[in-house]
Amino acid sequence: MTPKIARFLMQTQPATPCLVLDLDRMAANYAALRHALPLARIYYAVKANPAAPVLDRLVSLGSSFDAAGIEEIDACLAAGARPEAISFGNTIKKSTAIARAHAAGVSLFAFDSDEELEKLAVHAPGARVYCRIRVENDGADWPLSRKFGTTIEHAGALMRRAGTLGLDPFGLSFHVGSQQTTTAAYDVAIGKVAMLFTDLTEAGVKLRMMNLGGGFPTRYREPVPEIEDFATAIMGAMTRHFGNNLPEMVIEPGRSVVGDAGVVSAEVVLASRRGDDAVRWVYLDIGRFGGLAETEGESIRYRITTDHDGSPTGPVAIAGPTCDGADIMYERANYHLPLALTAGDRVTLLAAGAYVTSYASQGFNGFAPLAEHYV
Ligand SMILES: *Cc1c(COP(=O)(O)O)cnc(C)c1O
Repeated sequence: MTPKIARFLMQTQPATPCLVLDLDRMAANYAALRHALPLARIYYAVKANPAAPVLDRLVSLGSSFDAAGIEEIDACLAAGARPEAISFGNTIKKSTAIARAHAAGVSLFAFDSDEELEKLAVHAPGARVYCRIRVENDGADWPLSRKFGTTIEHAGALMRRAGTLGLDPFGLSFHVGSQQTTTAAYDVAIGKVAMLFTDLTEAGVKLRMMNLGGGFPTRYREPVPEIEDFATAIMGAMTRHFGNNLPEMVIEPGRSVVGDAGVVSAEVVLASRRGDDAVRWVYLDIGRFGGLAETEGESIRYRITTDHDGSPTGPVAIAGPTCDGADIMYERANYHLPLALTAGDRVTLLAAGAYVTSYASQGFNGFAPLAEHYV
């Protein structure tokens, strides 16, 4: 937790649950990415946290934006982003959204199928398009693999076809999966995609851009490689495959920009032991539906701190406050919390700045969407 967040929590004692995000820490994360990969243009993945204060600050830092829908595009424009700095990066778009984005001046679109390419040709004539390749998501705690991307062979055919439809075949993209904890994932993916890039260029399709997606991890319970380690792997692979003829490089970080800039402050509603349960159950006032969607499968394991830290602990299961049986965050991930923890105590989920507010439900069981404070 940053000093600014600690001060805010102490002085304000905001109602829980809430997200508190330090915009200066976010700016420092952005600067660290820039410094590690100075040749890559940063398109912040808006879905990680689409709040106006986040977008405003990133616009002032010169960021570009990866948007998944027309509402995210509108949010970027409202924050002052230029349409040329926005990529419509979802491969699944309504025709009406494509047309509106095109009319607003957005000129860069992702796709991974003939059908989507045809929609783009009709509703965004002349636009720059890039094809998403499916790559392995091994090493990612939150994989994205099966839903997006196509094969190398199909992508080659699609990129050749793009030109004949009046579109500009601009580049290729991939995503190694979110919370990617191995640097080799980028190395392997770049090798695979660079080969197609070179083949197409030699065949006269003038690609200019390699989009390496997001995936850079945030530190939760376990340590992860530093951004410099990812940068070394990426630049090593890029130089190996392109020599000094590097194409324009794009990265689309979401989690690594906002993740460790925010915490969730929550309250214990009940800490109890029932019947023959081997563990105590700790129920918080935030759960799977209040924004902790990434605890599904216990994939993202937040570090949790309490005011009793340092006192004796015991094993716990941790669940949310709703009446839904799926609203359990952790049963198998071996969490231990202080035995003194009791109803009314505050707890803090560290590094919870990404994929939390945007994943909160609208009043399920009457619980309001997660409150947000930007400091
Ligand atoms: C979600 C997403 C990102 C951001 O991924 P992170 O793991 O948060 O960095 C980037 N690009 C695309 C296309 C995405 O869908």
